[in-house]
Amino acid sequence: MAADPVSGLLQLPDPAVGSGMTSLRTRERLVQRLLATGIQNKAVIEALRQVPRHLFVEEALASRAYEDSSLPIGWGQTISQPYMVARMTEALLEAGPVQRVLEVGTGSGYQTAVLAALAQRVYSVERISALQARAEQRLRALKLRNLRLRHGDGSAGWAEYAPFEGILVTAAASGIPRQLAEQLAPGGRLVLPIDSGRGQVLVRLIKKRRGRCPGYQHEVLEPVTFVPLLSGVA
Ligand code: SAH
Repeated sequence: MAADPVSGLLQLPDPAVGSGMTSLRTRERLVQRLLATGIQNKAVIEALRQVPRHLFVEEALASRAYEDSSLPIGWGQTISQPYMVARMTEALLEAGPVQRVLEVGTGSGYQTAVLAALAQRVYSVERISALQARAEQRLRALKLRNLRLRHGDGSAGWAEYAPFEGILVTAAASGIPRQLAEQLAPGGRLVLPIDSGRGQVLVRLIKKRRGRCPGYQHEVLEPVTFVPLLSGVA
């Protein structure tokens, strides 16, 4: 693996610079909303306060970037709702900081940037090459150095860098992809939306630490709405 410095810290432009929509006050309103919806993890809140979401959507939508809603990013995909980004990240980090995180479904790269502020290294896979290329450009412009991106089908994980203490999937699967579960480190967590056919739910799978009873345990967190996890690349 290349020996680029691991910072875990965001080096971002001053968030107060720019027009009203990107002002600190607008972002602060979003943060207050997240707190009101029950997000508690301070580090997660701080990451959402810092990451400039307006840079992850088309200019025409930038004025809506700090609303708590998902927005279209082209190719039939969406940038996740800030609440959902916060909730999933919180579910991933609940047991403490993580070293290596794999994200499946880079999309705009927004969730990737949030993870990069909180984990030591982030690996993210996107199946639509045009989205992958844009996300790569944006994340590079933000000078985030502790992440690695790839165009591919993320259902297979990223064996080269496994195991991961955290895996986060931002598209809904019909079941838990076996390779993702296998690429979890002992004690690691996989947070993903599952579409049972009767609606989607957010699920957290925890790989038990090696010991007398190896295996997985899972819990259902809440109902959610995500685009589908598709196989192959586009
Ligand atoms: N976290 C992203 C969410 C984007 S929507 C954001 O906030 O912007 C989900 C993304 O998952 C889409 O970009 C979609 O193309 C991608 N996706 C769906 N199935 C995939 C797969 N098997 N492998 C990798 N990416 C996938």
